[in-house]
Amino acid sequence: MFRVERLTKRFANGAGAGPLTLQLPRGSTYALIGPSGCGKSTFLRLLNGLLTPDEGTVEFDGQRLTPANLAAIRQRIGYVIQDGGLFPHLSARGNVSLQAEFLGWSAQRIAARMAELRELVKLPDDLLDREPARLSGGQRQRVSLMRALMLDPAALLLDEPLGALDPMIRAELQDDLQRIFAELEKTVVLVTHDLAEASHFSRDILLMDDGRVVQRGSLRDLTRQPANEFVERFVTAQRTLHAEAPA
Ligand code: ADP
Repeated sequence: MFRVERLTKRFANGAGAGPLTLQLPRGSTYALIGPSGCGKSTFLRLLNGLLTPDEGTVEFDGQRLTPANLAAIRQRIGYVIQDGGLFPHLSARGNVSLQAEFLGWSAQRIAARMAELRELVKLPDDLLDREPARLSGGQRQRVSLMRALMLDPAALLLDEPLGALDPMIRAELQDDLQRIFAELEKTVVLVTHDLAEASHFSRDILLMDDGRVVQRGSLRDLTRQPANEFVERFVTAQRTLHAEAPA
């Protein structure tokens, strides 16, 4: 579904992502993980064309991203960010339907899709009339997911979608997301900085350091056969973190 070649984006301070050459075949869930600032969000934003690479290419479903086809391709890639990124002045319903309205969908078609998605993400109907500020963090993320799925995109990119949530809501939404991903059979790329969360969602984990993927594999691969010292340190630090967490 995604194929990137020598993809590179470096900011003025030298940070960024790349060079990256890899493929993310259709229909699976991939977890992008690594320490803060290693380039996970940058990579994700290169995948959906929100950032233009300095070098290299992104191919989506066999089509190379270019300025001419970007708008059309972006409609086929749902995107969810940490705080949801919802428009504060619109109701949840208004946020979810915005793109479809722009594309001229009929009110009937919008309502039908909305009902389908509401069921999928388990959001009570009355909450759809609230503005984001009157929703909890978990509810906001459910609405963001509905918005990202409205046009039935082939791929879904999620940037730390559970990062801002408290542990119980996070665990609940983690389970729901896993069910939703399995049900939808879309290509999903999920950014997290938590190895347990990465392995919860995927057996294909891409561990990044300084903009590059240093190891790709399952949790077992990363823990049993770390590719280098950084991987070993990262895995150990995550284990220590979880071991020290209060019961
Ligand atoms: P991660 O998602 O892994 O935390 P990011 O991809 O957000 O990392 O950022 C990687 C680095 O790139 C950051 O340390 C930041 O300094 C830099 N960066 C990200 N976006 C920009 C930008 N728009 N302009 C300048 N520097 C940026």
